Amino acid sequence: MSTFRAPKGTNDVLPPDSGWWRHAYRVFEDVAEQFGYGLALTPLFEDTEVFARGVGGDTEVVEKQMYSFLDKGGRSITLRPEATASVVRAAIQAGGVQGRLKASYWGPMFRYERPQKGRYRQFYQGGVEYLGSGSPEADVEVIEFGYRYLERMRVPHVDVHINTIGDAADRARHRTELIKYFLERFDELSPDSQRRVETNPMRVLDSKADTDVIADAPKPSDFLSDEPAEHFDAVRAGIEALSIPYTLDSTLVRGLDYYNRSVWEYIPRTYDAAQSSVGGGGRYDGLFEILGGKPTPAVGLAMGVDRIFLASEAAPPRSLLDTFVVVADDKKRTEARTLVSELRREGLRVDMTDTVRSVKAQFKEADRSASATAIVVGDEWSSGLVAVKDLKTGEQQEIPIKEIGRWLRA
Ligand code: AMP
Repeated sequence: MSTFRAPKGTNDVLPPDSGWWRHAYRVFEDVAEQFGYGLALTPLFEDTEVFARGVGGDTEVVEKQMYSFLDKGGRSITLRPEATASVVRAAIQAGGVQGRLKASYWGPMFRYERPQKGRYRQFYQGGVEYLGSGSPEADVEVIEFGYRYLERMRVPHVDVHINTIGDAADRARHRTELIKYFLERFDELSPDSQRRVETNPMRVLDSKADTDVIADAPKPSDFLSDEPAEHFDAVRAGIEALSIPYTLDSTLVRGLDYYNRSVWEYIPRTYDAAQSSVGGGGRYDGLFEILGGKPTPAVGLAMGVDRIFLASEAAPPRSLLDTFVVVADDKKRTEARTLVSELRREGLRVDMTDTVRSVKAQFKEADRSASATAIVVGDEWSSGLVAVKDLKTGEQQEIPIKEIGRWLRA
């Protein structure tokens, strides 16, 4: 019989290793609440046009990496390669944004990439979108969000690489000069870049195959008009005031078409250079209109959880359980089950075996589930006591049954 394997470029994460992932998710939710972000739940798939238009037709993501298929109704559907276009689509569908809307999301994204370490076909992102604000303070807040999340996930030495790519008019002037420049050096470019020179020269700047040509190419900063330049100065002043370390990176443009003004990436200095960014974001003031909504300024980021996992020094939570109930007297199984139920309702993390087992086998299971303690239900039960064993030190003591919950929480 053949055995099944997870599809190429995807990963299974099972207990106990998934402890880190649960921790990463909880910390993300916690930081999102601290920063005042509500939760956005959108479909994992959308009408293909949402991404084709939202992300941009000439991008790597749309041209090569989309998981698209026709559903049984003949509609072209795409598994989301990113969530910003979905969140914006949802906000427009809900009637647009009045004032500000701050929303966060967490979940799998799908891109048909060449799998390698830190680059998968299904990967996980936690992201936030700050909709309805054109203020540089919003950029600063979102940049800080990602930085604080990485701090909490113990990713060391994070440097924020930032750049501004200006507004539509600046980009148009940059584009004209880029085309001129790339045509001069056309023969040195890779076939993919040659094809993009006239359709989307900004994307040539993302090409890993053409770094020599790109190094001398005109930079977005050479074409900045006053307002975007002032906006960028304010963003820099804001992150300096928060003592967030950053580097100006005039070559950074980011792979999705919808960005304008600020773009940034989080780069841990100690991390493998090939897959160096553990998250990134930018302003996307034009995206609402591209997707058929009213003009609405917005800024957001996405953190790449798989890469944070590779770069994080956070140990997975030590114990999954506060206690494991060991039944030393088989006649007391029902009492033990009731105790487990009561302790769980008190908010403690508790487990026991599914059926009669030797005491030795039960202790083995307690160890395997990384429980901090074991409670032994045995002879002392009739005197209103249980034995509690600290599974780390091996120390054991008798505690009144009524006090066990309080004792475990202490
Ligand atoms: P992007 O949505 O392309 O701006 O990417 C944001 C973050 O998601 C990146 O900084 C990466 O950490 C992560 N990421 C993007 N693509 C992948 C992938 N194929 N596999 C794993 N992580 C990814």
